[in-house]
Amino acid sequence: MKTILDLSKDELSDIVKPSFRSKQIYHWIYQKYVDSFDDMKNIPKEIKEELSQNFVINPFEIVKIEVSSDGSKKYLFRCKDGYTVESVLLPMKKEQVDEDGKITSETKYSICVSSQVGCKIGCAFCLTAKGGFKRDLTSGEIVAQVLQIKKDNSIPQNRRVNIVYMGMGEPLDNMTNLVKAIEIFKDPDGLEIGARRQTISTSGLSSQIEKLGKMDLGVLLAISLHAVDDELREKLMPINKAYNIQSVINAVKNFPIDSRKRVMFEYLVMKGLNDDLKSAKKLVKLLHGIKAKVNLIYFNPYPNSPFKRPDEKDMINFKEYLNTHGIICTIRQSKGLDISAACGQLKEKTENDLA
Ligand code: SAH
Ligand code: SF4
Repeated sequence: MKTILDLSKDELSDIVKPSFRSKQIYHWIYQKYVDSFDDMKNIPKEIKEELSQNFVINPFEIVKIEVSSDGSKKYLFRCKDGYTVESVLLPMKKEQVDEDGKITSETKYSICVSSQVGCKIGCAFCLTAKGGFKRDLTSGEIVAQVLQIKKDNSIPQNRRVNIVYMGMGEPLDNMTNLVKAIEIFKDPDGLEIGARRQTISTSGLSSQIEKLGKMDLGVLLAISLHAVDDELREKLMPINKAYNIQSVINAVKNFPIDSRKRVMFEYLVMKGLNDDLKSAKKLVKLLHGIKAKVNLIYFNPYPNSPFKRPDEKDMINFKEYLNTHGIICTIRQSKGLDISAACGQLKEKTENDLA
């Protein structure tokens, strides 16, 4: 059965009349986190019955939750057709308390969501790629990841949450459902997560980046670059044959971004492959003229992975080089390293455990 989370508020208004009912239903689902239509107290019985005959609210079952020592929590959800997807809750900043025990600043969260079951892009370093592609997630299944995690952790509706599309799958290969999910997230009667709190991470589908840019939704962009010359990038990311580095850079230059924000370039560092200062130098050149920030990521090894985690000193040297050449660069603190952090790894582990 379809989930009601697939419906935008306008689509819901076409089904339930008068149209203020769709607002009320949105409040129940996204702000009060109800599980069943029966619990929607101010909604007439006939509407509730009709909805429950046609829709479920929650399309998922929680298969597994892994909690890391740093507080990040990885969820494995089972969809109605049996496929599983994963999402991660990342507390970004701890709650601050003053001497009197009063909360001065609340915990900030990011939620990392999946956009597909599997992925077609086939990057050599990525565990998600190994299982091949199964299907696109519906917009409701993308939205459900955030809703279920907020609910499971009792994160209040009005608490600010950022969304990063960095879980399984290539979001720009599922553009229609992605764009609809972005809109549903934004709805002021729903989760109310603005476009500037949503970051789309892509392996660099240049034509799709251009298309998304033209929609001018206000979302932020993260590019998984990982290599600075086409030869290496083609080996790591076959998508580079269709869209080379220069085409990605051009697409980024055309992408509209908020003047206070930057485009993020993710650079997955693998020992002996792309961790040298020659690469750092090339990266500086490539990013010339772009309001960029670089996020260096330690390659996260998995059993039989062909690549190695880089040395800390090489990471630091790389970062310092960028910083001294005018580029903002941070090293991603591997949140949840102890809980199989990188995309696809929880799924893999659970399937092995269950096998
Ligand atoms: N398909 C999109 C978004 C999902 S992947 C993209 O590629 O951008 C999210 C991030 O996880 C990407 O930057 C990807 O390169 C990174 N990643 C994949 N495998 C990894 C691994 N083994 N260790 C660390 N990061 C990894
Ligand atoms: Fe797909 Fe991203 Fe993994 Fe590449 S890194 S295979 S694009 S999920």
